[in-house]
Amino acid sequence: MKLPPAPLVRRFQRRLLAWYADHHRDLPWRRTRQPYRVLVSEIMLQQTQVDRVIPKYRQFLRRYPTIRRLARARPEEVRRIWYPLGYNIRPLRLWAIARETVARYGGRLPDDAAALQRLPGIGRYTAGAVLSFAYGRDAAVLDTNVRRVLGRVFLGPRRLARVRGEKTLWDLAEALVPRGRAYDFNQALMDFGATWCTPQKPRCPPCPMKSFCATYPNANGRA
Ligand code: SF4
Repeated sequence: MKLPPAPLVRRFQRRLLAWYADHHRDLPWRRTRQPYRVLVSEIMLQQTQVDRVIPKYRQFLRRYPTIRRLARARPEEVRRIWYPLGYNIRPLRLWAIARETVARYGGRLPDDAAALQRLPGIGRYTAGAVLSFAYGRDAAVLDTNVRRVLGRVFLGPRRLARVRGEKTLWDLAEALVPRGRAYDFNQALMDFGATWCTPQKPRCPPCPMKSFCATYPNANGRA
């Protein structure tokens, strides 16, 4: 796919960051840059709503404040503390990541995408989240919300329907990250998808992207 022209990229970046300044959510994992805490939040947020994650995130970190404490825990106990978030494979993966991080990296999560993706259960999205949210790297993220926003704004329903696989949207996500602003930009993209450009009720009329959004004014439930 041809990437959007530079002026459009800059306009999107500017408008999204301005939108985020006014609308960002105050979430506990945004008050830390510690890689372990960022990782815990990202694993918890997989398949689980923010409202359910917040109290569990706090409880989990009270019980396991460091990656070393988690690595020393018994897996059954980690699973019990995780309950009732569901998807019981996730606490076990997190525990396995903790053990491997302590064993291979001295207890510090790697700041390298390839090394992160060799850890159990860490894919491209989680690696990008750790790199941008904890280490301030210019890494992209692509979750369900980001996919929808980028697909709507830059492709529109017809082109999006022809997209096969993930490469197009990952290329787009990477091309859009403003240098040195990946933290705010990625958080903004995820908030924008979760609260504004939602699956069923996108807020198109007051949207700051509508002048160039490829899906406007036909977004309701279509992309
Ligand atoms: S105009 Fe509508 S579809 Fe386009 S980005 Fe804004 S809310 Fe989403």
